[in-house]
Amino acid sequence: ADAAHQTITVSADARPVAEEPAVEPEDRVEQFAEYRRLKATMEQMQMTGVPNPYFTVHESIVADTTVVNGKELISFASYNYLGMSGHPDVSKAAADAVQRYGTSVSASRLVSGEKPIHGQLERKIAEFIGVDNSILMVGGHATNETTIGHLVGEGDLILHDALAHNSIVQGALLSGARRRPFPHNDYAALDRTLAEIRSKYRRVLIIVEGVYSMDGDFCNVPEFIAVKKRHRAMLMVDEAHSFGTMGKHGRGMAEHYGIDARDVDIWMGTLSKSAASCGGYIAGSNALVELLRYTAPGFVFSVGMPPAQVAAALAAIETLEKEPERVDRLRQRSELFLQLCKDAGLDTGASAGTPVIPVITGNSMVALRLSNRLKGDGINVQPILYPAVDESAARLRFFLTSEHSEQQIRFAVERTSHHLAELGFATAASA
Ligand code: PMP
Repeated sequence: ADAAHQTITVSADARPVAEEPAVEPEDRVEQFAEYRRLKATMEQMQMTGVPNPYFTVHESIVADTTVVNGKELISFASYNYLGMSGHPDVSKAAADAVQRYGTSVSASRLVSGEKPIHGQLERKIAEFIGVDNSILMVGGHATNETTIGHLVGEGDLILHDALAHNSIVQGALLSGARRRPFPHNDYAALDRTLAEIRSKYRRVLIIVEGVYSMDGDFCNVPEFIAVKKRHRAMLMVDEAHSFGTMGKHGRGMAEHYGIDARDVDIWMGTLSKSAASCGGYIAGSNALVELLRYTAPGFVFSVGMPPAQVAAALAAIETLEKEPERVDRLRQRSELFLQLCKDAGLDTGASAGTPVIPVITGNSMVALRLSNRLKGDGINVQPILYPAVDESAARLRFFLTSEHSEQQIRFAVERTSHHLAELGFATAASA
């Protein structure tokens, strides 16, 4: 320890102090440039006169509807894809688990936080997907961060889809591995990159998502499996939005393509969407799960998933097994919404029949005004504004659920196209 300490001291002292330029100290958040940028953006938004679209308070369970300010709205802004949050069996399972185990497991599972339902849910997820085993973590974001951050490091390479979620990018940064995005869904470009540089790295981890949560398109997993096999790389698929929504029974991308789930090295998913809970999982081989169980920092040094959350996810998956028609209904509703948008001439980008359907306005202010007008009609949908996406890609993002009625869908698309035409006219006229 002394030697290590000395090395650090010597290298820190190696650069003469005089060479370091003096910087203005910042000891209050108000001084941070990023805070001032945030304030400027908020002020700009305020100047439009449209209310802040963030942190809206929802006073009810959110599925096909929500309650805001005491008023019921049709909701297209929740991940409750299968209506499992609020399902009586799921709520009851969570309440029973609290009665039996309390509200916290009060320790890391490794030491004394292990409950019977942890293992039950892990086995259920593995069986549902078709792999050996799985491991639960307390947050979906944390699952990506800690797993990616832990499995690769210096001397390794991460190649991820250009549209990968923030949790994947953060995990990659944490890992210390070299990180390179490849063009969205472009397995041929990935193949070319690997042919060129694979030999320079020990481990190569390719990361894609099942369904992409901004655009509603999905990944050609079999092609990525072929590439990863060709180059002896590992493939990780984030199923946050495909678990419960893709495949006949909602088992995800492996079921959708009819492939052997074991051909993907790492399946990741979140329990905050179709599974009506929160937390994440990693599913795959026994060796992968065993390594993570004993060594992944975000698992070992973090409390176990709370009983209510575990029981809710378990009940949601069991309910899905009993009621697979929910997945069919979700698909049918999503396809109807997409078709109606296309018939109305709305720009739905790359959306491909998944429950994520953007309506691209190409202008943040139009997206903001459109969402506000829809709220006036009793429809809640979130605008996605610059800088979350490029200004030209500003949009409303509709999330469908199996609980939406055809009538709700027809009404929403009709109102959207009505207001967009009006706003479009106003924009063109004022230009
Ligand atoms: N991965 C993807 C692709 C996501 O979209 C999200 C969040 N929506 C996460 C991971 C993080 O999941 P959670 O919200 O459950 O933390």
